[in-house]
Amino acid sequence: MAICNVCFRHCNIAEGETGFCGARTCKDGAVTAANYGKITSIALDPIEKKPLNRFHPGSMIVSVGSYGCNLRCPFCQNYEISWSKEAEYYSKKADYLSPERLAAIAKRYKDEGNIGVAFTYNEPLIGYEYIRDTAKIVHKKGMKNVIVSNGMADVSVLNELSPYIDAMNIDLKGFTHNYYKELLSGDLDMVLSFIEAAVKVSHVELTTLIIPGENDTEEEMRNISNYISGLKDSEGNVIGCDIPLHISRFFPRFHMTDRDATDVGLIYRLADVAREKLNYVYTGNC
Ligand code: SF4
Repeated sequence: MAICNVCFRHCNIAEGETGFCGARTCKDGAVTAANYGKITSIALDPIEKKPLNRFHPGSMIVSVGSYGCNLRCPFCQNYEISWSKEAEYYSKKADYLSPERLAAIAKRYKDEGNIGVAFTYNEPLIGYEYIRDTAKIVHKKGMKNVIVSNGMADVSVLNELSPYIDAMNIDLKGFTHNYYKELLSGDLDMVLSFIEAAVKVSHVELTTLIIPGENDTEEEMRNISNYISGLKDSEGNVIGCDIPLHISRFFPRFHMTDRDATDVGLIYRLADVAREKLNYVYTGNC
């Protein structure tokens, strides 16, 4: 048995079993990433698709995903590789790609505008060891590393990765404890701690997906943008109003098909609310 401390769940994992996320296991009495280097998806994407709008705009980035997730969002857009029966299937089918090979692939695509590697699609931090090992090599090749994450990880994980990470897009999915706990099986406090630490060490953009009837009030958006506007850099300067926020539209999917897509007018209205505090607000999926 061994306890995993990557996220708030602190799973006590029996030898050969996996934790809640399906990606971390116990081997010889120690926790390791079972999904290390197991790649389920790889693509050369525009950086704006991460989404990152203020980090090397117009560039491309080799984007990779593995399998597993430590949240249970019923509206997951990548459920095939995050948490579902299909994810179990993919976990067995995923091909191994070594850190060296991935870094070499990134370099190979430099002429096509590629600036580095983005760890994305599933929740990358539950396999942070692969990010660390790959990102070091990517940096040595003079390229960039990006993480797209739900932010549901201990700050110690971020500290281990931060020397090699250049930009992150982190979800701030809502702003109530109830929303994170009841709908997503997550923990708002852990996400906020992660975001507060991340903005001190890397370029950060945030994303909020608006779910009708769940996190779609102007009051909640006001709370979110107030919070972001107060974030501070490593020297204690308030820099939050310049942190980009992506407000994104929900479409019925996976276990959440009981409601319509978010009204486009509502997204624009919430974006205007956020702009009362923030300088860079973008709308997504509209
Ligand atoms: S990262 Fe996975 S194994 Fe570790 S505590 Fe979180 S859910 Fe459990």
